[in-house]
Amino acid sequence: MKNSFDPKEAKKFTARYPDVPPELALRVYTSRLIGGDPSLVLHGGGNTSVKLRIKNIVGEYQEVLFVKGSGVDLAAIEPSGFVGLELDPLRKLRKLSHLPDEEMENQLQIHKIYFSSPDPSVEALLHAFLPSRYIDHTHADFILTLTNQRPGENFLKEALGSRVAIIPYLRPGLPLAKGVLERYEENPEIEAVVVVHHGIFTFGEDAKTAYERMAQYVNKAEAYVREKARGKAFGIARTDGAPPKDPGAAMARFDQAVRGACAFRDKDGRLRRFYVEVRHNDELREASLFREARDLCLSGVLGPDHVIRTKNHWAYIEGIPEEDSKLQQIVKEAVEIYTKAYDQNFSEQVRVKGIEREKLDPYPRVFLVAGVGIVALGFTRKEARIAADVAEHTLQVKLLANAMGEYGPISESHVFDMEYWPLQQKKLGRTPPPPLRGQVAVITGAGGAIGLGIADRLLAAGSAVVISDIDEANLQKVYSHLAKKYDASLIESLLFDVTDYQAVEKAFQEISCRLGGLDILVPNAGVAHVARIEDLDPEKFDRVISVNLKGTFNAIKAAIPIFKRQGTGGNIIVVSSKNVFDPGAAFGAYSASKAAAHQISKIAALELAELGVRVNLVNPDAVFGNEEVPSKLWELVGPERMKSRGLDPKGLREYYRQRNLLKVQVTAEHVGNAVVFFATEATPTTGATLPIDGGISAAFPR
Ligand SMILES: [Zn+2]
Repeated sequence: MKNSFDPKEAKKFTARYPDVPPELALRVYTSRLIGGDPSLVLHGGGNTSVKLRIKNIVGEYQEVLFVKGSGVDLAAIEPSGFVGLELDPLRKLRKLSHLPDEEMENQLQIHKIYFSSPDPSVEALLHAFLPSRYIDHTHADFILTLTNQRPGENFLKEALGSRVAIIPYLRPGLPLAKGVLERYEENPEIEAVVVVHHGIFTFGEDAKTAYERMAQYVNKAEAYVREKARGKAFGIARTDGAPPKDPGAAMARFDQAVRGACAFRDKDGRLRRFYVEVRHNDELREASLFREARDLCLSGVLGPDHVIRTKNHWAYIEGIPEEDSKLQQIVKEAVEIYTKAYDQNFSEQVRVKGIEREKLDPYPRVFLVAGVGIVALGFTRKEARIAADVAEHTLQVKLLANAMGEYGPISESHVFDMEYWPLQQKKLGRTPPPPLRGQVAVITGAGGAIGLGIADRLLAAGSAVVISDIDEANLQKVYSHLAKKYDASLIESLLFDVTDYQAVEKAFQEISCRLGGLDILVPNAGVAHVARIEDLDPEKFDRVISVNLKGTFNAIKAAIPIFKRQGTGGNIIVVSSKNVFDPGAAFGAYSASKAAAHQISKIAALELAELGVRVNLVNPDAVFGNEEVPSKLWELVGPERMKSRGLDPKGLREYYRQRNLLKVQVTAEHVGNAVVFFATEATPTTGATLPIDGGISAAFPR
């Protein structure tokens, strides 16, 4: 790792946070240095602390430990990401021989100096017990390469020298805190402690020393590993099974199949789907084709706290067959074998430990796919990405560890303790998920007002949303609008032309590679043309038919193989028009194309019911949008309508408001709400049309 400590940068931090003690500002600085290096910590892993004397409200000085909050990401930590804890009462806990989890949590909570601070790190007691002012803790890849070895400690001593204490694996909490303190008291000259299968703690009296010791020992570990592994390669390439000819298409098909095979009903009866994150590079592909690939999948996590991200084992897929039925069979079998083994291990662990636990879902989070790479799963996109990152580092460490020696896994028992440790589970923050969490929605023609309204409501309901259009500038506008309001990781944008079937197919393949598949399809792309039939240019007519009818048909057709591979149903919600039932003169191309698209959607409802896919339609009328994202239809139609009725833009809106029974102005969000209503499957409905028009009797569906 690079020693990135820069005194000038450090000074900037003390200036940036004038309201906090400079020692804490420096703590923020070196914590971010650590957090910014993925070979040290990943996504909320690792923790740091500083001990300060602080004046309390009655003017008395007290010693306070500022330790990282649980789950806070070191890379972007702020002073408020540290929890202040009264040190004296916590230090006294070392006298105890046993401290139940609930009581440890209670002690940490009641000794906070600010009520509103986050929950302290589960390793807070260790930081409290060790007397050093600054403590840095990471799960550095090169340290784990050395600790996760069959002969273990021998390598470590040789690599790191005499000023590092090495202790066997102990669970975080009182046992680990006491274990580390004892080693420190035996030899106060030590500069670091390595905990086998876990990571390294370095300490010092100032921020720079603790950080530089981290760099020094991690670099020693790296140099030692590289020296030992020099000229030794691990892994024998398989001779059978060629990598897929079109890796993009194969990956998309695999993602869809795996999402289907791992979807499950939770205890509330809700179908839970996963997002998928794919990682592929030469190293991963090569490893996926080793004869030892399956063993790599079964040799467990690098450190027990990774278990909540990747589960202990991965599933291995030997190859992706060309035929869909074979692919589904292979994936289904791999998942069945995995879940059976998970359930068995769970029963075994609770039996041996004589405890009761509520079993978590047994589905794999990581697949190693021959010829492709890593495919990771998560209930949120963030979780899928974390699982993929952790898996990538895990594989690299295992390859190195096996090249220099023999990788030694952690016991199933330790990993189980961590997976089912309530304090660890808390990091995942399991609040009831929003209704469309886990689903992927695709909206065509999303560069306008209605597309924005639909995307907004779907995101609010928890879905990931892919917005697509052929107009890049409009799409970008909608994207920035949404990204300001919602988690940007849930929004993807894609340019493609709905009139070109191949382009639609390719786009859906790309969506599957990015997110895993497709659950909610909203064909919304549409164009209008105003002309009476006698003046209607046949080419213009073709163009309107091409976007409005063929575009809808293309999107529905291209989604069907995906729905089939997933096998988890889905929803198609077609944005139709009030004109289908109540057409207007000089609007023939639009009305006829929408009517035909309406009919093809009803046919889709008939044909796709057997897949559990529902097809419904929404009929909006007079949705104008706002100044920033106007309705493209009304930009075209509006001027002519205003002219013929002698109205200004405001007057035109008012005219349409007065025209409907409820006297309301219809908004894009209303259309979005209707889409969400169908997508949440609140009623067993397919083939239906829902008017979003304020009530127009001539347009009542029939
Ligand atoms: Zn740790």
